[in-house]
Amino acid sequence: MKHLGVLTSGGDAPGMNAAIRAVVRTAVHDGIRVSGVYRGFQGLLDDDIVELGPRSVANILQRGGTVLRTARCELFYQPEGRTAAAATLARHDIDGLVVIGGDGSFRGAQALEAEHGIKTVGIPATIDNDINGTDVSIGFSTALDIALEAVDRLRDTAASHDRHFLVEVMGRHAGHIALHVGVAGGAEVIVVPEVPQTADDVVDLLLKAEERGKTSSIVVVAEGAYEGGARRLQEAVEAATGFELRTVILGHTQRGGSPCSRDRVLASRLGFHGVRTLAAGKSGVMVGTKWRQVVKIPLAELADHPKPIDRELLEIAQVLAV
Ligand code: ADP
Repeated sequence: MKHLGVLTSGGDAPGMNAAIRAVVRTAVHDGIRVSGVYRGFQGLLDDDIVELGPRSVANILQRGGTVLRTARCELFYQPEGRTAAAATLARHDIDGLVVIGGDGSFRGAQALEAEHGIKTVGIPATIDNDINGTDVSIGFSTALDIALEAVDRLRDTAASHDRHFLVEVMGRHAGHIALHVGVAGGAEVIVVPEVPQTADDVVDLLLKAEERGKTSSIVVVAEGAYEGGARRLQEAVEAATGFELRTVILGHTQRGGSPCSRDRVLASRLGFHGVRTLAAGKSGVMVGTKWRQVVKIPLAELADHPKPIDRELLEIAQVLAV
């Protein structure tokens, strides 16, 4: 391995910069040239590639977003797009690629390797934490902290005014953020896409909470868990209970901001091991962690197997909301 490319792709996540820095500095330390590809796979099509050195990644460890930018690239779904990308890499003499992103980005990386022999390694970075095979993905912990701070603030006003709040967090297909924020924030109800609940189910839980003496509540809803989102759920619950609810949609505020210490350390470890994995001649894998140990999982095993929701944690949340 003489010259690596590194890119960030798909949804941005806090800690991507820390991963870029780790990849660049590990490569340079080990005597490997390294170039940054801008805007994910799109940068391979546009030939938007710049060679990086250790000073190019100074002062980015603590910054959210990604200095390499990110994008969704339609053409990369087509074989022609990947052929053009492989040609760009060949022109730059890049013989390995570190892809920092989510499972979609990993599918793209896998196709590039299968069709053109480009050695690729994936580093899991998505706030949704929906990538199987790793305990946690880069960005999840920071997104949780941001959403939790909002829930804590809402709890103060909810308790003071005897109010009910619906808090919509990110997660179109995955409820990991909602579940963890719900547990950490002591939510009365948690609604996730993996366990469909009707408005009546939510009403039932809120009425029971009221019977137990609760005068306010927080319902955490993943954005994809209820058709029409938290606002539609609010209307349905209000119609059935006469409660007055407030909905707060956290949206993209959960994506930005300085990565927390856990994400910075995780990104540093995974970036380092991503380079070392390629340098050792291994590829076609995601570098993640299992029980805190670094593991390498074939990208082929990840496709179409999203991380299942932790049902025991969901049960714990219900027990603790008594
Ligand atoms: P994420 O990596 O966060 O899951 P996406 O699913 O949007 O985000 O994927 C990011 C990019 O990866 C897409 O815009 C596309 O360029 C590429 N990609 C995703 N899935 C595939 C696929 N099946 N084949 C080729 N490229 C893909």
